[in-house]
Amino acid sequence: MPDVDVSAEVEGLPTLYQHWLQSILPGGMPRERVATCLDCAMCARTPEEQQTMIGAHNPDTKCCTYFPNVPNYLVGRAIDVDTPGARVMLGYVESGTSSEANVTLHGVAPTGKRSGLYDLVGSTGGFGRDPDLLCPYAIEVGTREGPLCGIWEHRNSVCSTYFCKHVNGGSGRHLWMAIRNLFRHIESSLSWWAIAQLVPEPGPLLLRPPTQQEERIDSALSPEAWTYWSGTRADFYRACSEKVEALSWEEVVSVVGFKAALYVEEVCANYDHVYGETFPDPLRPTAFTTIRAGHDRTTIQGRGGGGSEHVEVPTTLLRLLPYFDGRPTQDVLSDIKSQEGVGLDVALVRKLYDFGILERADV
Ligand code: SF4
Ligand code: SF4
Repeated sequence: MPDVDVSAEVEGLPTLYQHWLQSILPGGMPRERVATCLDCAMCARTPEEQQTMIGAHNPDTKCCTYFPNVPNYLVGRAIDVDTPGARVMLGYVESGTSSEANVTLHGVAPTGKRSGLYDLVGSTGGFGRDPDLLCPYAIEVGTREGPLCGIWEHRNSVCSTYFCKHVNGGSGRHLWMAIRNLFRHIESSLSWWAIAQLVPEPGPLLLRPPTQQEERIDSALSPEAWTYWSGTRADFYRACSEKVEALSWEEVVSVVGFKAALYVEEVCANYDHVYGETFPDPLRPTAFTTIRAGHDRTTIQGRGGGGSEHVEVPTTLLRLLPYFDGRPTQDVLSDIKSQEGVGLDVALVRKLYDFGILERADV
């Protein structure tokens, strides 16, 4: 695995997840500097940006048009944070019922109605825009920097690993997705494990058939299952936190099972891919999309690029791409130099590969 010195530039994950990730990637994950959340990279602030920005978000929502499914062991810490967003979660927990949130032994998740709204509005362009979808745990709404996260130290796998833009383009996005897959698997398994520690002999009340919408959010625990716990709901979640936080990484892997090892392998392979010195050779251009053509600069999106994963390149670079015709990259660069008088930097070639403008030619 490449030895990346990222000590001063490590992405800030929730404490528990940072600790786990460092057991796999000792240097941590380099910070996604282009996702500038305090001055949101997706928000158009000036009239000019409003005219030109592609897929601009609403400054009053940013990307927090999402209702996270928070596992019990994170809820146990989040409800004790002193922010208005965390107090909303505590309110759900104390009341136990809400049209917004399912409060079960498994954690706090959106109701089927709320996630149905997300599916409907999100799939019709509301992601990052619709204030009705704003996360209930968001704080500082309406301020210059806001909205911010009211449960930042205890946010879930999706919120911890989502970035609208990545320094390493699609390659970086795939790495974060691999980490998300690992954490999601851990969340699902460890929250059940925590229940089993505190409810050792569950009866028939524990599970009920999930609705279609609930199936994928793992919240199909019957509210009546709380009868297995004699304390408060808040204390149950705190007890889950204590159980999970006491586990070493090796114990987490052992609890979570064989699949975790596969996800860890996926994370390590993607990390090597992004931060290793080599990249595939030979290369060829992909069927990339031109987003905005200009005389001097052109914005393009590589194959498989996410909605905001664009890259702006000198327009003259585009006519050099056909040189990448499956021959060794060093030969291609020599030809470009001798025939076009342009010295292409290997780092730029790497960037074109990361952003899906070039792809390996030997498959
Ligand atoms: S990740 Fe979200 S808050 Fe951060 S810059 Fe991107 S859209 Fe804005
Ligand atoms: S939990 Fe925090 S990061 Fe996640 S959607 Fe809500 S406010 Fe945003």
